[in-house]
Amino acid sequence: MSGRAELLGQVAETLLAARTIAICAHVDPDGDAMGSTLGLTHLLRGCGATVTPLLASGDRAPSTYAFLPGAGELRRAPASLAVDLFVALDAPDPARLGDARDLALNAKRLVVIDHHPDNKHYGTLNLVDERAAATGELLWELLPHLGCAAERITATCLFTALMTDTGRFSYGNTTPSALRHAAEMIEAGANVVDLYRRVYENRSPGALALVARTVGRLTFANDGHVAYSWIDTDDFAETGALPEETENLIDEIRVVSGVDAVALLKVAHDSVRVSLRAKNGYDVGLVARTLGGGGHAAAAGFTRAGSLESVLAELLPLLPSVG
Ligand code: AMP
Ligand code: MN
Ligand code: MN
Repeated sequence: MSGRAELLGQVAETLLAARTIAICAHVDPDGDAMGSTLGLTHLLRGCGATVTPLLASGDRAPSTYAFLPGAGELRRAPASLAVDLFVALDAPDPARLGDARDLALNAKRLVVIDHHPDNKHYGTLNLVDERAAATGELLWELLPHLGCAAERITATCLFTALMTDTGRFSYGNTTPSALRHAAEMIEAGANVVDLYRRVYENRSPGALALVARTVGRLTFANDGHVAYSWIDTDDFAETGALPEETENLIDEIRVVSGVDAVALLKVAHDSVRVSLRAKNGYDVGLVARTLGGGGHAAAAGFTRAGSLESVLAELLPLLPSVG
């Protein structure tokens, strides 16, 4: 048996041995975080476990993923919870577990399942594979090892995870195996048209007003190699857009031709949250790590104390330019 199959078997065995399980993904959850948390919840319940899905931040699921089966059950991680096993998903570092950090680190057993290249392997058992397009894809690969069939609700959650982390099957992580696994999820009942519409064609007027402001502020830097834009707290107040409606906002500016990297800066009172995306092979993960964050080569982020101007002054010299 290959080392990988052995590891998948070992993780499945550990999951099946637990009667009570808590599951949590990273703060400010995206489609992979939500889809993976709920997909694994359904999967393990199907195997007979008592499962508690938790949030690392916020009191309820983001409105954008409230349609996922089981989303209504999600609640903020409590200070203590007695479980046999804690599963951390899509979170490369315990700090990314936010409110669930201590719960995870103090658990009897901690299984970490993730696809970030900078994962710290902080679990008692770690299933970390940066070649996986999404954490949800890794969970799908666990299926045959768990020996329980995927129901439609599991396939729905994990397809959402894979669709969102691959940018609707368009980014470099859209591998043949990602597409094969997506096909299997569709066979298991995931409805492509319905999920696409729910995630990408269900925007509020406020969110579109925020898109207009973001595109309107598009600025080129570094001799045209970089494009960036920004939003601040007034933009949310004035448009009525919700914070979770910014998950794909950077895609509105990454479409511009001729740039190697794009940045979207979300300006808060005394800090700035920055999303980075690379085109043409530039590694923005490295840039994000330099500034205290993390992520993948093509998609990364960080939060930095300061103003729009001060963070741009730190960021732009690290991004591609002529020469
Ligand atoms: P985002 O720009 O928020 O969509 O995030 C893109 C990628 O960067 C994701 O893989 C995140 O896990 C990662 N990322 C974003 N913000 C941070 C952060 N503050 N620390 C570590 N990783 C981050
Ligand atoms: Mn994620
Ligand atoms: Mn992910």
